[in-house]
Parts: sequence; C-alpha cells; structure tokens
Amino acid sequence: MGDKTKIEWTDMSWNPVVGCSVVSPGCTNCYAMSLAGTRLKEVPSYQGLTTATKAGPVWNGTVRFVPGALAQPLRKQRPRMIFVNSMSDLFHDEVKIDWIDQIFAIMAMAPQHRFQILTKRAENMRRYLSDPNVMIRWMEAAKELAPVVPKGTMFQLKEPLPNVWLGVSAEDQQRANERIPDLLETPAAVRFVSCEPLLGSVDLTQIRHPQPYMINALKGWHQWDDNTVRRLDWVIVGGESGPNARPMHPQWARDIRDQCEDHCTPFHFKQWGEFVSVSEVEGPGRHHTFPDGATVRRIGKSNAGRTLDGRRHDGYPGAPA
Ligand code: SF4
Repeated sequence: MGDKTKIEWTDMSWNPVVGCSVVSPGCTNCYAMSLAGTRLKEVPSYQGLTTATKAGPVWNGTVRFVPGALAQPLRKQRPRMIFVNSMSDLFHDEVKIDWIDQIFAIMAMAPQHRFQILTKRAENMRRYLSDPNVMIRWMEAAKELAPVVPKGTMFQLKEPLPNVWLGVSAEDQQRANERIPDLLETPAAVRFVSCEPLLGSVDLTQIRHPQPYMINALKGWHQWDDNTVRRLDWVIVGGESGPNARPMHPQWARDIRDQCEDHCTPFHFKQWGEFVSVSEVEGPGRHHTFPDGATVRRIGKSNAGRTLDGRRHDGYPGAPA
C-alpha cells in the first residue's frame, strides 16, 4: 500500500489487483503500464504483466490478484482517501468477481476510509453493482476473510457503501458519452468523472440518459426507487505528463470548469501536465499551437503547476461517509 502518492486528489493507493490492458486513447501513455514494465518489473506480483516493445512496455492483458495486500486498509486507523487499484482497472474483463467481492468486503470493514474507484470499464462496474445478490456475496467474502482480518473489525453493510466513491475516466466526448450513463445507472454514494488526460473538449451537459426527468449529467435526476439524485458529484480535470505527453487546449479545461460552476458541482483541477497555457505561466519552452491559434508551452509538470486562470480549484464532494 503506497503511504504516499503523487496523485493530488487522494492520500494513498491500494493495489489488491495489478495488471491491465489498453482500452482507449487515454491509456496510450499509461503511467502504471510504464512503471510495471520498468521499476517494478522484478517485484514478484508485477512480473510478466507487460511485454517489452520498441515504444516501451505494454500491458499484455494479464491481471493478478494480490491477496497479501487485501487487509492493508484495515491496519490504518487514521481516516484516509484511498485510490483503489492505481495499477489496474478493478472492472477489467479478466478480474474475477470473487476478487471484487473480497475487495468490497474489505471496504465495508473500513468505514473510517473513503475509497475511490476509477474505471474505464463502466459497463462492467454497472453490471457488478446492480446485481441484487451483491451484498450477500460481500457477506460471504467477509466470512472467508476472517483469518486475515484484525480482531474486533466490524463489518458494516449498506448498499451502496457510503464510503465508496465510484468514478469513470473520460478523456474526450466520445468516452464521456459511452461511460457516464453507465456510471449514473450504477448504485453509488458518490459518482465522479476524471477527465485526465484531457484529449479533447467535453461537454458534460450533453450527456443525457433515457430517464424522463434527467436534464443532463451535472443536473441529474431524482431516482424514485432508492430516493437518491443521480448526477455527477465531482469532476476532475488534468493534462497529460511524461515524455510523450499530448497538450491540453486551455479552453477544454475552462469549459468543464464553467459547466461545473453553473451546476454547483465540485471541480478539481489536478494539473496542467507538461504543457501550460502561455497566459498562465511566463517563460521559455517549446510552443504548441492549436488550429484555432491557442498556444501552450512545454515547461514540465511541476513548473506548469495547477492554477487555471490564476486560481487553484480543489473541489471535493461533500461526502456522506
Ligand atoms: S485502464 Fe487505466 S490502468 Fe488500464 S491501461 Fe488504461 S489508463 Fe492504464
């Protein structure tokens, strides 16, 4: 369990499953894939997850359960935000249902933490969490986990689990249109979208769902059967970092910020990435000009910082946990 993380919107990562495969353009420069195939490649749980290519390591589709990591959150008493599976996608097709059951059982036993799950396989997530037997399976999994669970740990069962936030990645409009409706259909205490690396414009107010009262993904609709409002509770935006980073048009980030402000949705600007708007930070650096004339400058992630129009945006959802 990583007690420290560079990810700005969480406190630590927890990886009970590792390994993945590339699914959409947002995965091209996947940080986890690069790490698994370089610095971590001799660590037993990471061996054989990637294939070396001229372009660098590439996931080969192997996913691996790491049972030894399961109980880690239970040993931390101080409340943390925990990013689940930063080195995988919990809802990858090859991840076994039984593994996911065990991970949810652990989260049910750690109400002091908030768990953040981010997937690009939104349909699998919806299917898993909409199964009417899911809570029974979590209870069964909790019984089997008894030998690794510290004495005195309580199993608190609610559906949806109030300390589990569910999110999808959406790097452009196409992926937002494909994934967000599934997220909105998924029972969850908190729903969020991470537009990182942002590779195109995204209008979240265009995302509609065939529900009679839904106006858009930010405004949401009232779900009568469980008496909840189905909408996006949190939006994260970030540009890409790393040697092959693709530039983010500043207006793409501003537009999402404005959509969130219009709907009072918490907005988190995570980073510019390698490229920053010339209006944000002065100084030298290689320029990239978009077809409409907007220009960004490559100055590196840490120099580029995370202010948008001179302001930091650190929005978080008002968590019911
Ligand atoms: S889904 Fe996530 S972990 Fe998997 S390849 Fe894509 S970016 Fe990497």
